Amino acid sequence: MKMRIALLSAACALALSACGNDSGNTDTQTATPPAATAPAATTPAATTPAATPPAQQPAATAPTAAGATTQAPGAAPAAGGVAVVNDCATQIESNDAMQFNVKSIVVPASCTEFTISMHHVGAMPEAAMGHNVVISAQADMAGVNAEGMAAGLENDYVKPDDERVIAHTEIIGGGETTEVTFDVASITDGGPFVFFCSFPGHAALMKGSISVE
Ligand code: ZN
Repeated sequence: MKMRIALLSAACALALSACGNDSGNTDTQTATPPAATAPAATTPAATTPAATPPAQQPAATAPTAAGATTQAPGAAPAAGGVAVVNDCATQIESNDAMQFNVKSIVVPASCTEFTISMHHVGAMPEAAMGHNVVISAQADMAGVNAEGMAAGLENDYVKPDDERVIAHTEIIGGGETTEVTFDVASITDGGPFVFFCSFPGHAALMKGSISVE
Protein backbone atom coordinates (compact mmCIF):
# COMPACT_ATOMS: atom_id res chain seq x y z
CA MET A 1 0.00 0.00 0.00
CA LYS A 2 2.60 2.51 1.01
CA MET A 3 4.74 1.58 -1.97
CA ARG A 4 1.87 2.26 -4.38
CA ILE A 5 1.10 5.60 -2.74
CA ALA A 6 4.75 6.54 -2.97
CA LEU A 7 4.88 5.63 -6.64
CA LEU A 8 1.67 7.53 -7.39
CA SER A 9 2.81 10.63 -5.56
CA ALA A 10 6.23 10.36 -7.15
CA ALA A 11 4.61 10.08 -10.57
CA CYS A 12 2.44 13.09 -9.79
CA ALA A 13 5.46 15.02 -8.63
CA LEU A 14 7.28 14.25 -11.85
CA ALA A 15 4.21 15.00 -14.01
CA LEU A 16 3.09 18.50 -13.08
CA SER A 17 1.41 20.79 -10.63
CA ALA A 18 -1.87 18.91 -9.85
CA CYS A 19 -0.48 16.75 -7.05
CA GLY A 20 1.79 19.39 -5.61
CA ASN A 21 1.02 18.83 -1.93
CA ASP A 22 4.20 19.30 0.13
CA SER A 23 3.06 17.49 3.29
CA GLY A 24 1.89 14.39 1.34
CA ASN A 25 5.22 13.92 -0.36
CA THR A 26 7.33 14.01 2.76
CA ASP A 27 5.11 11.44 4.59
CA THR A 28 5.39 8.75 1.93
CA GLN A 29 9.12 9.15 1.45
CA THR A 30 9.98 8.56 5.10
CA ALA A 31 7.65 5.53 5.36
CA THR A 32 9.14 3.40 2.55
CA PRO A 33 12.55 2.11 3.87
CA PRO A 34 11.26 -0.03 6.86
CA ALA A 35 8.43 -1.63 4.83
CA ALA A 36 10.85 -3.24 2.33
CA THR A 37 13.00 -5.18 4.80
CA ALA A 38 10.29 -6.72 7.05
CA PRO A 39 8.84 -9.72 5.11
CA ALA A 40 12.06 -11.51 4.10
CA ALA A 41 13.50 -11.81 7.62
CA THR A 42 10.70 -13.73 9.41
CA THR A 43 10.33 -16.99 7.42
CA PRO A 44 13.78 -18.68 7.84
CA ALA A 45 13.83 -18.05 11.60
CA ALA A 46 10.55 -19.94 12.13
CA THR A 47 11.50 -23.16 10.31
CA THR A 48 14.96 -24.01 11.70
CA PRO A 49 14.29 -24.71 15.43
CA ALA A 50 11.28 -27.03 14.90
CA ALA A 51 13.03 -29.62 12.72
CA THR A 52 15.81 -30.99 14.98
CA PRO A 53 14.41 -32.27 18.36
CA PRO A 54 12.30 -35.38 17.45
CA ALA A 55 15.18 -37.45 16.01
CA GLN A 56 17.21 -37.49 19.24
CA GLN A 57 15.53 -39.99 21.63
CA PRO A 58 16.18 -43.73 20.98
CA ALA A 59 13.67 -44.87 23.63
CA ALA A 60 10.84 -42.97 21.94
CA THR A 61 11.42 -44.39 18.47
CA ALA A 62 11.04 -48.10 19.35
CA PRO A 63 7.35 -48.10 20.38
CA THR A 64 6.31 -45.91 17.51
CA ALA A 65 8.07 -48.21 15.05
CA ALA A 66 6.24 -51.22 16.45
CA GLY A 67 2.97 -49.36 16.34
CA ALA A 68 3.55 -48.26 12.79
CA THR A 69 3.92 -51.80 11.49
CA THR A 70 0.67 -52.88 13.10
CA GLN A 71 -1.34 -49.92 11.88
CA ALA A 72 -1.91 -51.36 8.40
CA PRO A 73 -5.06 -53.40 9.09
CA GLY A 74 -6.03 -54.91 5.78
CA ALA A 75 -2.76 -55.43 3.95
CA ALA A 76 -1.44 -58.93 4.56
CA PRO A 77 1.80 -58.51 2.60
CA ALA A 78 2.67 -55.36 4.51
CA ALA A 79 2.49 -57.21 7.82
CA GLY A 80 5.60 -59.26 7.15
CA GLY A 81 8.38 -57.54 9.01
CA VAL A 82 11.02 -58.51 11.52
CA ALA A 83 10.06 -58.16 15.17
CA VAL A 84 11.58 -55.24 17.08
CA VAL A 85 13.77 -56.59 19.88
CA ASN A 86 14.68 -54.63 23.01
CA ASP A 87 16.40 -56.00 26.12
CA CYS A 88 16.05 -59.67 25.11
CA ALA A 89 12.31 -59.31 24.56
CA THR A 90 9.90 -58.55 21.78
CA GLN A 91 6.28 -57.53 21.55
CA ILE A 92 4.29 -58.91 18.65
CA GLU A 93 0.63 -58.61 17.76
CA SER A 94 -2.14 -60.80 16.40
CA ASN A 95 -5.53 -59.76 15.04
CA ASP A 96 -9.03 -60.85 14.05
CA ALA A 97 -7.81 -61.50 10.50
CA MET A 98 -5.75 -64.50 11.67
CA GLN A 99 -2.39 -62.75 11.34
CA PHE A 100 0.73 -62.03 13.32
CA ASN A 101 2.25 -58.63 12.54
CA VAL A 102 5.73 -60.11 12.04
CA LYS A 103 7.13 -62.97 10.00
CA SER A 104 10.49 -63.23 11.70
CA ILE A 105 11.98 -62.98 15.20
CA VAL A 106 15.74 -62.67 15.52
CA VAL A 107 17.01 -63.34 19.04
CA PRO A 108 20.34 -61.70 19.90
CA ALA A 109 22.99 -64.32 20.71
CA SER A 110 23.98 -62.22 23.74
CA CYS A 111 20.67 -63.09 25.46
CA THR A 112 20.42 -66.10 27.78
CA GLU A 113 16.65 -65.81 28.10
CA PHE A 114 14.19 -64.29 25.68
CA THR A 115 10.60 -63.14 26.18
CA ILE A 116 7.90 -62.98 23.56
CA SER A 117 4.90 -60.89 24.50
CA MET A 118 1.89 -61.22 22.20
CA HIS A 119 -1.04 -58.81 22.17
CA HIS A 120 -4.31 -59.68 20.43
CA VAL A 121 -5.41 -56.36 18.92
CA GLY A 122 -8.72 -57.78 17.72
CA ALA A 123 -12.09 -58.04 19.47
CA MET A 124 -13.15 -61.65 18.88
CA PRO A 125 -13.21 -64.12 21.82
CA GLU A 126 -10.65 -66.90 22.20
CA ALA A 127 -13.16 -69.59 21.25
CA ALA A 128 -13.66 -68.03 17.82
CA MET A 129 -10.34 -66.31 17.06
CA GLY A 130 -7.97 -67.37 19.83
CA HIS A 131 -4.23 -67.05 19.35
CA ASN A 132 -1.15 -68.39 21.05
CA VAL A 133 2.57 -68.51 20.28
CA VAL A 134 4.13 -71.95 20.05
CA ILE A 135 7.85 -72.47 19.31
CA SER A 136 9.22 -75.69 17.89
CA ALA A 137 11.64 -76.94 15.31
CA GLN A 138 10.25 -76.40 11.83
CA ALA A 139 10.33 -80.17 11.28
CA ASP A 140 8.10 -80.71 14.33
CA MET A 141 5.56 -78.00 13.54
CA ALA A 142 3.01 -80.15 11.69
CA GLY A 143 2.95 -82.84 14.39
CA VAL A 144 2.83 -80.36 17.26
CA ASN A 145 0.02 -78.50 15.55
CA ALA A 146 -2.07 -81.60 14.77
CA GLU A 147 -1.80 -83.03 18.27
CA GLY A 148 -2.32 -79.61 19.79
CA MET A 149 -5.61 -79.30 17.92
CA ALA A 150 -6.72 -82.60 19.44
CA ALA A 151 -5.72 -81.42 22.92
CA GLY A 152 -8.37 -78.71 22.74
CA LEU A 153 -8.83 -75.20 24.04
CA GLU A 154 -8.60 -76.34 27.67
CA ASN A 155 -4.96 -77.22 26.94
CA ASP A 156 -4.35 -74.06 24.88
CA TYR A 157 -4.20 -76.31 21.81
CA VAL A 158 -0.88 -77.75 22.94
CA LYS A 159 -0.54 -81.41 23.81
CA PRO A 160 0.45 -81.62 27.49
CA ASP A 161 4.12 -82.43 28.07
CA ASP A 162 4.89 -82.37 24.35
CA GLU A 163 8.69 -82.49 24.33
CA ARG A 164 8.79 -81.03 20.84
CA VAL A 165 7.32 -77.79 22.15
CA ILE A 166 10.17 -75.49 23.16
CA ALA A 167 7.87 -72.82 24.59
CA HIS A 168 4.29 -71.66 24.28
CA THR A 169 1.86 -69.10 25.61
CA GLU A 170 -1.75 -69.61 26.57
CA ILE A 171 -4.55 -68.97 24.09
CA ILE A 172 -5.94 -65.45 24.33
CA GLY A 173 -8.84 -63.55 22.81
CA GLY A 174 -9.18 -60.01 21.50
CA GLY A 175 -7.81 -57.29 23.75
CA GLU A 176 -5.68 -59.66 25.82
CA THR A 177 -1.91 -60.03 26.13
CA THR A 178 0.18 -63.08 26.98
CA GLU A 179 3.88 -63.81 27.14
CA VAL A 180 6.39 -66.60 27.46
CA THR A 181 10.08 -66.64 28.42
CA PHE A 182 12.45 -69.39 27.34
CA ASP A 183 16.15 -70.25 27.32
CA VAL A 184 17.86 -69.01 24.17
CA ALA A 185 20.08 -72.13 24.30
CA SER A 186 17.02 -74.20 23.38
CA ILE A 187 16.90 -72.68 19.88
CA THR A 188 20.62 -72.43 19.12
CA ASP A 189 21.06 -75.99 17.78
CA GLY A 190 18.89 -78.23 15.64
CA GLY A 191 16.91 -75.59 13.76
CA PRO A 192 15.50 -74.01 11.82
CA PHE A 193 12.87 -73.06 14.37
CA VAL A 194 9.44 -71.53 13.93
CA PHE A 195 6.79 -69.77 15.95
CA PHE A 196 3.15 -70.31 15.12
CA CYS A 197 -0.40 -70.25 16.45
CA SER A 198 -1.79 -73.71 17.16
CA PHE A 199 -5.45 -72.68 17.21
CA PRO A 200 -7.10 -75.06 14.69
CA GLY A 201 -6.53 -73.84 11.15
CA HIS A 202 -4.37 -70.86 12.06
CA ALA A 203 -0.84 -72.14 11.57
CA ALA A 204 -1.02 -71.95 7.79
CA LEU A 205 -1.15 -68.15 8.05
CA MET A 206 0.11 -67.50 11.55
CA LYS A 207 3.71 -68.66 11.45
CA GLY A 208 7.17 -67.24 11.16
CA SER A 209 10.83 -68.00 11.69
CA ILE A 210 12.73 -67.57 14.95
CA SER A 211 16.50 -67.70 14.99
CA VAL A 212 19.53 -66.66 17.04
CA GLU A 213 22.10 -64.32 15.56
ZN1 ZN B 1 -4.50 -67.98 16.07
